[in-house]
Amino acid sequence: MTGRMGWFGTYGGQFVPETLIPALDELTRAWADARHDSEFRKTLDDCLHRYVGRPTPLYQARRLGKDMGGVRIWLKREDLNHTGAHKINNTVGQVLLARRMGKTRIIAETGAGQHGVAAATACALFGFECDVYMGEEDMRRQALNVERMRMLGARVLPVSSGSRTLKDATSEAIRDWTASVGGTHYVIGSAVGPAPYPDMVRGLQRVIGNETRTQLRELGVEPAAVFACVGGGSNAIGMFAPFIDDQPLPENPSVPADSSGPGQVRGVSDNRAELVGVEAAGAGLASGQHAASLSLGLPGVLHGSHSYLLQDEDGQVTPAHSVSAGLDYPGVGPEHSWLKESGRVRYESVTDHEAVAAFGDLCRLEGIIPALESAHAAAGLRKEAEKWKNRDVVICLSGRGDKDVEEVRRFERTRGADVQSPDQAS
Ligand SMILES: *Cc1c(COP(=O)(O)O)cnc(C)c1O
Repeated sequence: MTGRMGWFGTYGGQFVPETLIPALDELTRAWADARHDSEFRKTLDDCLHRYVGRPTPLYQARRLGKDMGGVRIWLKREDLNHTGAHKINNTVGQVLLARRMGKTRIIAETGAGQHGVAAATACALFGFECDVYMGEEDMRRQALNVERMRMLGARVLPVSSGSRTLKDATSEAIRDWTASVGGTHYVIGSAVGPAPYPDMVRGLQRVIGNETRTQLRELGVEPAAVFACVGGGSNAIGMFAPFIDDQPLPENPSVPADSSGPGQVRGVSDNRAELVGVEAAGAGLASGQHAASLSLGLPGVLHGSHSYLLQDEDGQVTPAHSVSAGLDYPGVGPEHSWLKESGRVRYESVTDHEAVAAFGDLCRLEGIIPALESAHAAAGLRKEAEKWKNRDVVICLSGRGDKDVEEVRRFERTRGADVQSPDQAS
């Protein structure tokens, strides 16, 4: 354990085999070093600017806002990043860190394939060998992303254990790392896993929130609320981070004052934006078919850290379900567990139906095909639009939805005959 570092209240920690502790210690030191190194930050900021395409626009969705009864909606357009989502912010950062540490090989886990593609992209850019673990079931469902990873020069390693999905791919990647730590860095795709990953991924995704706050200030806008979808929690924590740090919690032992990492913007603000994380309620919270670990899970240990997760009475992890592959994970980053407990962030959930309806709204009203994950954030706002009438509200549009076009079609054909219009949705 790293003392109080790496803990968010009682959540987080390093629940890993003994052999991994030296690697996590090495990574903790390397990240602590790099985040303050102006050379590293300049290289990363340069890459985010010239290669990824940052800063991403903050765009006012007027037609959608009008449709919601007069909410001033601001979309943070992470869908416009190279590779189409926020995940690249994390992978270029971690691969640059691996280069600094003298590693030569990268491994990653992937579910829908989005993180795998982002990792393969960063590896192509910086000349790394790249192995991506992916469940066989996911490989079948996400064949296009498997081909993209291969074209980018990565090897996709099929995982046939368990449910052959993300949870199993992650376990396999941890196993690989345990045997290969010397020259290999493991790029985790969300703000999950053992310390220092949750804090490091937060630091690398924080650029989303930093840019948003700067852009809002330029517009003279104080947001009343900020919405983001929560799978493992990386786009949400990156978006929320500056708003949280503006208003330090009385006793958050684990987020040092200087934890903001590359691209940070310092400044005092009396911002009191309400922060709302939106989980996937799948077929409905009562159906048992959902991915709402914070809403309905219990604390336990999965993939190296203590956090909320979906489990049965015996503590066995139960499978998640969501129409959105990127939210289909039974756990959640430990900082979100702490933010839930402390009350600084409110966590809600929306069903597959509500998310698909919001997907359609963004298409037809704004000309934006959003990722189904991001559509959850928009649906979360829709459910309480009345409350935000005439106020400024930010939505993190974490990614674009080209990948989801077929899934939405299938959903509408099979379950969507009764896709509720947004106002009918409960
Ligand atoms: C992977 C993904 C998510 C969910 O991951 P978080 O770590 O919770 O952000 C959300 N949106 C998009 C577009 C994704 O690709």
